[in-house]
Amino acid sequence: MQNYVGGAFVVPDVPVAPVYDPSSGEVISRVPLSSAREVDAAVRSAREAAPAWAATPIKDRVQVFYRYKALLERHLDELAALVTEENGKIASEARAEVLKSAELTEFSCSLPQIVTGEVLEVSRGVECRVERFPVGVVAAVTPFNFPNMVPNWSIPNAVALGNCLILKPSELVPLSARRIAELLEEAGLPKGVLQIVHGGQEAVEALCDHPDIGALSFVGSTRIAKIVYRRATANLKRCLALGGAKNHLIVMPDADREMTASNVIASMSGCAGQRCMAASVMVAVSATDHIVQRMVEHARAMVPGRDVGPVISEAARERITRYIDEAEAAGATVLVDGRHARVPGREGGYFLGPTIIDHVTPDMAIAREEVFGPVLAIVRAKDVDEALAVENASPYGNAASVFTESGGIARRVMERANAGMVGVNVGVPVPREPFSFGGWNDSKFGVGDITGRGSIELWTQAKKMTTKWNREAGVNWMS
Ligand code: NAD
Repeated sequence: MQNYVGGAFVVPDVPVAPVYDPSSGEVISRVPLSSAREVDAAVRSAREAAPAWAATPIKDRVQVFYRYKALLERHLDELAALVTEENGKIASEARAEVLKSAELTEFSCSLPQIVTGEVLEVSRGVECRVERFPVGVVAAVTPFNFPNMVPNWSIPNAVALGNCLILKPSELVPLSARRIAELLEEAGLPKGVLQIVHGGQEAVEALCDHPDIGALSFVGSTRIAKIVYRRATANLKRCLALGGAKNHLIVMPDADREMTASNVIASMSGCAGQRCMAASVMVAVSATDHIVQRMVEHARAMVPGRDVGPVISEAARERITRYIDEAEAAGATVLVDGRHARVPGREGGYFLGPTIIDHVTPDMAIAREEVFGPVLAIVRAKDVDEALAVENASPYGNAASVFTESGGIARRVMERANAGMVGVNVGVPVPREPFSFGGWNDSKFGVGDITGRGSIELWTQAKKMTTKWNREAGVNWMS
């Protein structure tokens, strides 16, 4: 892989790391591990492009994104195949990811309608107006689990709002970023407005430290989100850092059996459980065995390699397996066991089948920590308040859901769940544009959100202008 600086793909003189296909374990590419020098080159190029791009009217800037959206749709199959190759997602999930990128881009095209500013005559002849201006040079650091979509959480909005952006993709999945750059170039994005710097910790630290970067978005694990947020803000940058998750789904005995079972299983197993919105703990309230039984049937029917893709690495598979082993040793019951999944012809792949573990207690690691695999821990509770107490004990706060036919119970959970995104009878409660994506607590550090209207605050700065004109005299003056 190459970095992308000033509209050209360049090979930096730095060490490289192998990139693996998770469904075969084979090396498919090599990624440069850029240093502060490569980050600085990208920042210089972005700084050169910034004044002209900021001065381009927003209605002209978004024309690039109308064309980019059409290109994402035209190249859907090819882009989805890249996601599958580097991340392992099954074809339908990879296509859904790219279509989500198109939807995110569609929102960016509506920004001229949204950032119109404000104006008011506040006293006779005195007018206050607020206009939003780009920050300048900004950066986005992204994780492995959505190689196409998460870069598109930041690029269309930040760039349509007039910034020049440096993307640092996950070094585990660097392939999609290249096509994103190529398609944006084809859509007419001027050279230097987008740069790609590949790498890991060293590159991210250089982005946090660089004095000419004004704002940085980060998406990844909570441990790294805290490090990046602290470092970027200590360097006086704006930063929005999204972290990991531990999402709880509360299932009430009155929940629709079929709908609940299929939604919970889809949530825990989709993208091999490697979604920050994946169901991780089901809190089963009172008499819910009939629903658990149906979930078991669904999970057993799923075929690894066909219905569930691999996890990202051998290390991830070992970590996930360890959580299951420890819970079982501590007395939990493994109802569906995906630990020994093998896919014929793809023996080198990092596959795990969907796994359901019942009678997990809230103190077990599998109930407290982010597992990030196709694993569902079931914790039993006697009523909705006990279930909420389990949910709210988590330091994370991305998503929470309740499955019930009772409006009162649904309302109670919506009000009391300590999470930024709450669902009722929805397994993956991702808000769609124009609503914003973002959790609470240890799932997000910083103000604002990563998508939708909530991102405008991160990527722009408001200028407040007060003007006074003496209309009577026919001459003007200002104070
Ligand atoms: P990660 O934290 O390991 O890596 C994320 C990014 O940080 C990568 O670009 C990586 O190169 C960089 N990085 C790694 N170590 C670093 C260090 N020491 N200093 C600076 N930068 C460093 O995350 P991941 O494993 O790629 O992604 C999975 C995690 O992302 C999960 O925890 C998941 O919940 C989370 N995630 C959260 C959201 C959300 O919206 N909250 C969305 C997607 C993924």
